[in-house]
Amino acid sequence: MRAVEIIRKKRDGGEHTREEICALIQAYTRGGVPDYQMSAWLMAVCLNGLSQAETAALTDAMLRSGPILDLGAVLGIKVDKHSTGGVGDTTSLLIVPIVAAAGLIVPMISGRGLGHTGGTLDKLEVIPGFRVNLSAKEFFHALKKCGGAIVSQTDEFAPADKKMYALRNATATIDNPSLICASIMSKKLAEGIDALVLDVKTGSGAFMRRPGDAEHLAKMMVRTGARMGKRVVALITDMDQPLGRAVGNNLETRECIEILRGARHPMSRDLISLSIELSAWMLFLGARSKSVHDGRKLAAEMLDTGRAMSTFRQICRIQHGDPAVVDQPARLGCSRHQARFAASADGFIQNVRCDQVGLASLALGGGRADKDGAIDRTVGFELHRKSGDAVKAGQMIATVHFNDPERLPEALDALAGAYPIGPRPALEKPTLVKKVIRSGHWKPSD
Ligand code: URA
Ligand code: CA
Repeated sequence: MRAVEIIRKKRDGGEHTREEICALIQAYTRGGVPDYQMSAWLMAVCLNGLSQAETAALTDAMLRSGPILDLGAVLGIKVDKHSTGGVGDTTSLLIVPIVAAAGLIVPMISGRGLGHTGGTLDKLEVIPGFRVNLSAKEFFHALKKCGGAIVSQTDEFAPADKKMYALRNATATIDNPSLICASIMSKKLAEGIDALVLDVKTGSGAFMRRPGDAEHLAKMMVRTGARMGKRVVALITDMDQPLGRAVGNNLETRECIEILRGARHPMSRDLISLSIELSAWMLFLGARSKSVHDGRKLAAEMLDTGRAMSTFRQICRIQHGDPAVVDQPARLGCSRHQARFAASADGFIQNVRCDQVGLASLALGGGRADKDGAIDRTVGFELHRKSGDAVKAGQMIATVHFNDPERLPEALDALAGAYPIGPRPALEKPTLVKKVIRSGHWKPSD
């Protein structure tokens, strides 16, 4: 079937065969189907959906678009974590060194910012010299030396997702559960890992805003992983407000380094607890701890004793980054200007519109408008208040870091929309981990 017929079939609500999906993905990966046809098909998928069988076929086809990494030469149990995308979500920068310091191997292949959400690679690249495009040989070497490494997809590795991800970002075809499942699981299963922890975000800053949709996606991904013989668990977690006290690549990396160095700012509490929780599950699935409870203790110990910091410094060094940033986070540099974003009235911060905070950061130039766009890594927000906090008129909610004064008004407008103030506190405090989804294939006791 030609690409145009495959597109027409999905446009008209038909169900693809495994062969059709496989042919489309193979041809696209090899350059035989142009971006505009793939874009049209992705949009048809967003409008008409994929069945479970189609989603499985898509994941398989994308997984097989490149080789599966053979990590046999690296001794140890390999585990990874993946998030469906959030705002101010810097957990990977804490989790990789925590779990690697505790003795597991974390071969993380990560992504860039997508839509209003940030990307781990963009955050790491604020470290002078840091390289995310390691060759397979360099990646193995880093894993053997440090136990963890964070790299980008290469052209040989999960290439279909690499191409499709960039396209989806520019064509408003991100937030479809089947496309997200296939994107994440093809990439993660190609890493040759033993176990995977998924952080499925829900709330105003997530792609799946409603808990029910997040759960649907989580089950889809857990089932896909189990089918491939992996131990997979998904945590449904809150993304109704930015995690931690920073949004923006530079500021977030700095926040993480400060946490690794022992800072325990109250505004960072949610970021730290989620990182410990996800690490605990990784340690448990990787058989490094007897229970999730023990995993939490071990993860906290790695953070509190500075062992995670040492591992982070090693990772920096081996990925060609300047390890001195760990001792002097100020070396990361900052934006030219700062402005205040203050409360317009007395009251309480209501439910934060978290995606608006992400969009405000994009307005400052902190994200990509298209797949090849340059980004300004120094811009973003330092947050001083969380959802539910009391404020007085004129009190700071955030410090805005920016370079181009012309971009400031749009960002301030978006922030004003993101932080509504009301006379009473919001009814309930959000819980960070809402639900844990496991596959039926294994029954751990925690
Ligand atoms: N993260 C991914 O890797 N892929 C998606 O499609 C969405 C989030
Ligand atoms: Ca943050």
